[in-house]
Amino acid sequence: MTSVHAPSAPESYAATSYWLESCGDDLTPRKSVSGDGVYDVAILGGGFSGLWTAYYLLRDNPGLSVAIVEREICGYGASGRNGGWCSPRYPLDASTLIARYGVEAARNVMLAMQRTVDEVGRVCVEEEIDAEFRRTGILSLARGDHQLPAIQRSHQAYERLGLGHDNILISAAEARARVNVTQLSGALHTAHSACLHPGKLVRGLARVVERLGGTIFERTEVVRIRQGAEPRLITAAGDLVARRAIVAAGEAYLTQQPGFQRALLPMSSLIVLTEPLTETQWTQIGWRGGEGLASQVSVVDYLTKTTDGRILYGSRGAPYHLGSNVDRSWDEPTADTMRRTLLEWFPILADVGFSHGWAGHLGVTRDWTPNIVLGGGKLGQMFGYTGRGVSTTNLCGRMLASAITGRPSGFETLPTAGHVSPLWEVEPFRFLGVRYVQEGFHRIDAAAKEGRGAPIDAPLVRWLSKQ
Ligand SMILES: Cc1cc2nc3c(=O)[nH]c(=O)nc-3n(C[C@H](O)[C@H](O)[C@H](O)COP(=O)(O)OP(=O)(O)OC[C@H]3O[C@@H](n4cnc5c(N)ncnc54)[C@H](O)[C@@H]3O)c2cc1C
Repeated sequence: MTSVHAPSAPESYAATSYWLESCGDDLTPRKSVSGDGVYDVAILGGGFSGLWTAYYLLRDNPGLSVAIVEREICGYGASGRNGGWCSPRYPLDASTLIARYGVEAARNVMLAMQRTVDEVGRVCVEEEIDAEFRRTGILSLARGDHQLPAIQRSHQAYERLGLGHDNILISAAEARARVNVTQLSGALHTAHSACLHPGKLVRGLARVVERLGGTIFERTEVVRIRQGAEPRLITAAGDLVARRAIVAAGEAYLTQQPGFQRALLPMSSLIVLTEPLTETQWTQIGWRGGEGLASQVSVVDYLTKTTDGRILYGSRGAPYHLGSNVDRSWDEPTADTMRRTLLEWFPILADVGFSHGWAGHLGVTRDWTPNIVLGGGKLGQMFGYTGRGVSTTNLCGRMLASAITGRPSGFETLPTAGHVSPLWEVEPFRFLGVRYVQEGFHRIDAAAKEGRGAPIDAPLVRWLSKQ
């Protein structure tokens, strides 16, 4: 009977992100694996993917035995570090969905995502998880006229899907009345979206899974996944053998598992967080609706207003590391640029203090499409949400739970069901390609910001990064 990790102090997990620090849950690790065990379903990963799957398995099949094995504590990964957008946006944009699957199938995906936002809110109420779920909507801002075509294209795609009424273009003046951001040229307002406290959701969900009879092991690393007639999650302290299925729900960290190295790519994403603003600052900024905010820059940015009056600013941008290394996700030069960029959005915040900063990894498949598959060797795989997993993991958890039990979910006909992405290139080509695109995005954004023409290789960069 050995424990894989020595117990770690709750404070060290609280330092992972503001969300874990402020979630109000006891972060003392649960028991580790000690010896072999047999379950109906054994899940690698205590993030949203693993927990939603366990939740629906247990809620709908009370007799089932379900175990989760988590290397650190539940919520340690992206689920405890994200921007808190529970959005109806699938990892693939509406226009890409249309191009790939046609209007009707794309509309079905988008409607499923809208209902998923409702479902997350419903579960929070029903299971009494106070995750600060609030229907805020999203404002996709055009900061400068050069960003207008992007929101206009998005709007056209929503119109084609018959979802134009939920995604409306508003003028710069209307947008400014909602939030006083510099350089506004207009916005796309998406009504059907929410923001939440991801730390409270992920930790609350873990408690609910236990209440429904699930077993959660923490501080235990799965060192190998073995599929086949007797599938199992192998840890140094014992195997978890599964009668019905094992599930790999480790998102970006799966790149460290044999067999997954080229299935997805870990992409670092950074967040900086301000101190709570003063009432005077809020009066000048407005933003009373607390909408999720984003502009149209290539490196992606997103802003969330927390319920205690802070501004969270997130962006991608930290460089990819050779061999999909996930040990280094923080990048101080990127964080510094982000802090300065936030002040460009809101010059009134010149004196604001930044209390927190953290990083995490997104999982990105070669075609930016999540892979939710139950294979012949009783291996369920769920990964590749890019930066849009807070809601999508719920949809995918329901899909995988129903594939395991054979109980129809109604999502079997979605065009993305059972999708398997092509593999990423072998190293060092993957490294060279990703670094080129990342660096190209910075050049494209810098040129647009300075009013220069796009770099000569911009079409190539965009083509390489195409979803
Ligand atoms: C900075 C950042 C901002 C984001 N913002 C948003 C947002 O605003 N909205 C949105 O929709 N999405 C956002 N995302 C994406 C979203 O957070 C993820 O898509 C989602 O949380 C993925 O959940 P998951 O359970 O699949 O993965 P994770 O939460 O990463 O969970 C995987 C778990 O598996 C564990 N694990 C890995 N390997 C092993 C092993 N070998 N043995 C045992 N356990 C293991 C890890 O410790 C981890 O806890 C963001 C992500 C990041 C990093």
